[in-house]
Amino acid sequence: MKLGIPRERHEGERRVAATPETVMQLAGLGLDVLIEAGAGAAAGHSDHDYDRAGARIVPTLQPADLDILVHVRPLETAMAMALKRGAVTVGLASPSSELATVQALADGGVTSFALELVPRISRAQSMDALSSQALVAGYRCVLEAAIRLPRFFPLYMTAAGTVPPARVLVLGAGVAGLQAIGTAKRLGARVSANDIRPASADEVASMGGTFIKLDLETAEASGGYARELSADRGALQRELLAPHVAQADVLITTAAVPGRRAPLLVSRQMVQGMRPGSVVVDLAAESGGNVEGAVPGQDILVPTADGQGHVTLVGLKDAPSAMASDASRLYAKNVANLLALMTRDGTVAPDFDDDVIAGACLTHDGGVRHLPTAEALA
Ligand code: NAD
Repeated sequence: MKLGIPRERHEGERRVAATPETVMQLAGLGLDVLIEAGAGAAAGHSDHDYDRAGARIVPTLQPADLDILVHVRPLETAMAMALKRGAVTVGLASPSSELATVQALADGGVTSFALELVPRISRAQSMDALSSQALVAGYRCVLEAAIRLPRFFPLYMTAAGTVPPARVLVLGAGVAGLQAIGTAKRLGARVSANDIRPASADEVASMGGTFIKLDLETAEASGGYARELSADRGALQRELLAPHVAQADVLITTAAVPGRRAPLLVSRQMVQGMRPGSVVVDLAAESGGNVEGAVPGQDILVPTADGQGHVTLVGLKDAPSAMASDASRLYAKNVANLLALMTRDGTVAPDFDDDVIAGACLTHDGGVRHLPTAEALA
């Protein structure tokens, strides 16, 4: 079967869905691998590297010729429509926002797998692209804060005096938040964190952070995800967080609730209450923002309430893409591992009795298999 790896079409996207290492893995499954010229360049892989790994370089992929297409960003609708009946796609699909493409995949009889839908169970960890990309984003947001902060992260005791460590507050301690805590700790900061899931206190402590316990009930939904707080509870959470935010030199926010707009955890007033020179990085800026006023891809200078300076509010955008090499290395393994689960002797034949395969499948046989997406399209 012919598997195609496209150059990503989305503006600014630097990742690629297969690396030379995973091309070898895919070729080892008996697949005939084609890659568009230059597809891996921004992630540090030349056409020559892919050629040596066993891929054929083509100037432009012809979707109608492919049996399998792997991708990073959700497919453009035109690309989805150009695929042949029975083709298989694997990649991020953003089903809740890309309904037209989902419909095109279903109408065209394409079997599509959305990496966002891979069940978060131990057996599927090696295919969990949400986790692998959140790890990259969590690491990255600390570095973005560190280079903007006019202070050190670590404690320095020098002949010229002692410099206290920076205080970093992380709100939302999922995969990205925990990675942010670990990264800030490694840089020597004093780190505290809050989350509303009951398990998060132990998880924060395991990364070396101090958990901030608020007088607020925990909110967990099925599958270990957070539940959206009511408006009252959200307002109370902001009130309880305000003094902690005011003390932080760096605030990193990563909170999310699946299928919902990101929760607003920090008001503009809270940002204004921070000390001049402080830095806020909102990793959720692209999904609505945890911090009032955050704009994806922009640094905004928010004047402090004391009139002495400003806080830098960073709306992070495309964080994993900014570290395209390692983000692609992990993403490509997620893709190849999912394909390996359904490939025998060079043929992709998904077994829908397998929970991971059934869970990750978005469209198949002319229909939308993911219930919330099917309902949204109805
Ligand atoms: P996510 O990206 O959906 O959300 C990020 C974090 O924001 C979560 O920890 C969530 O609890 C938190 N949050 C939501 N609303 C908040 C609020 N109002 N205040 C503070 N924090 C808030 O989360 P994720 O990183 O995808 O992880 C979700 C869950 O999945 C976690 O329980 C994680 O441990 C679990 N998980 C399991 C596996 C596995 O077993 N294979 C892999 C990855 C993640």
